[in-house]
Amino acid sequence: MNILLLGSGGREHALAWKIAASPLLTKLWCAPGNAGIAREAECVALDIADHPAVIDFCKRNAVDLIVVGPETPLAAGIVDDLADAGIKAFGPGKQAAQLEGSKGFTKALCTEFNIPTGAYGRFTTADDALAYVRAQGAPIVVKADGLAAGKGVVVAKTLDEAEAAIAMMFDGVFGAAGTEVVIEEFLAGREISFFALCDGETAIALASAQDHKRVFDHDEGPNTGGMGAYSPTPFVTSEIHDQIMARIILPTVAGMKARGTPFRGVLYAGVMLTEQGPKLFEYNVRFGDPECQVLMLRMMSDIVPAFLASCDGELKHFDLRWYPEPALTVVMAANGYPGDYRKGTRIEGLDDAAEIEGVEIFHAGTVAKDGAILANGGRVLNVCAMGKTVLEAQQRAYQAVDRIKWPDGFCRRDIAWQAVEQERAKG
Ligand code: AMP
Repeated sequence: MNILLLGSGGREHALAWKIAASPLLTKLWCAPGNAGIAREAECVALDIADHPAVIDFCKRNAVDLIVVGPETPLAAGIVDDLADAGIKAFGPGKQAAQLEGSKGFTKALCTEFNIPTGAYGRFTTADDALAYVRAQGAPIVVKADGLAAGKGVVVAKTLDEAEAAIAMMFDGVFGAAGTEVVIEEFLAGREISFFALCDGETAIALASAQDHKRVFDHDEGPNTGGMGAYSPTPFVTSEIHDQIMARIILPTVAGMKARGTPFRGVLYAGVMLTEQGPKLFEYNVRFGDPECQVLMLRMMSDIVPAFLASCDGELKHFDLRWYPEPALTVVMAANGYPGDYRKGTRIEGLDDAAEIEGVEIFHAGTVAKDGAILANGGRVLNVCAMGKTVLEAQQRAYQAVDRIKWPDGFCRRDIAWQAVEQERAKG
């Protein structure tokens, strides 16, 4: 098969690595790709926002399947445009992508299909939103309705913070994404990421994972796109897994089908494990980055038939196998991230680091120039490792990090600390 992958992050490098291992593959392209992806695929300088250009590329190169990594092209309806042109694409269409594209849409779906989530209100004026938070009190969560590159959520500990967030969002900081604001009950509990592969009719769970959103150790500092992840998480017991499938994932798939907008692709649920059971606080309609990196390492089965089964509505009897060993990834980011950072700084020692047993390095923001690898973004590298235990995976990943010579980058030193602590407690 000829496959075109869209995207340029660590998630897409992990997907390219996994697709490249498929015996079904004839040729893999990635648009636009990065310096690491270039080892697995031919990178092409296509503008993925230009759907006719993508369609033209597929026709000229007899592409059989497109795999869409990030959310923006999904929300822009690239899967529908490709389908109209007779090209198979993995991921949801524009209507179904609203599960990520509009927080209000998802909350309304939860209400309609009785999916457990926090109490909420939807607002189009600051005055109404302010009246609501004053009535509810803090802590409370203020969210821009639309896509805001992961920055549209403020978990307000005080009423002052909530009021400031409302003022900021209605001030147009997030453009059209902030013309509606969703205000949601603060959910206390442990946060986990739950991934399911959907085919419009049904869903099968992928492995569980937990990411680390804050920039510094001990979960301090501002939120980021994700500074590391590990899989599986010990907090998703088989009982919790079954509850999430039965109460959240399957009712969502059934609800979307009933509405005439079936969901195909990866459904990524942000779930809070509360005292009243698992509650949904957000959906994403694609793999998480960096969770995808650890899922791809642990996936034993060929991923290409899974993509095809999702596109073709044939997941019902699909069997996806996983390696039991844990996987972990440490994100290396440019100094200053998630604020201002420099691009173009030189990274050395990658081959040396990759020699450590069980280690795999996926690139995020990198470019190759004159034989050197240069940083080209905020999150730059994913140093991943598998091990017999989470501790062993963690030790291997940090050994690899220490071999990478990049004075302009940093990473968290405590990825998977909760799981390591639990392993220690169990002896
Ligand atoms: P998001 O950008 O939607 O991933 O949200 C960012 C973070 O805000 C999440 O990872 C959660 O930690 C937190 N969050 C979102 N909604 C809630 C909620 N209702 N209660 C508590 N925390 C939340």
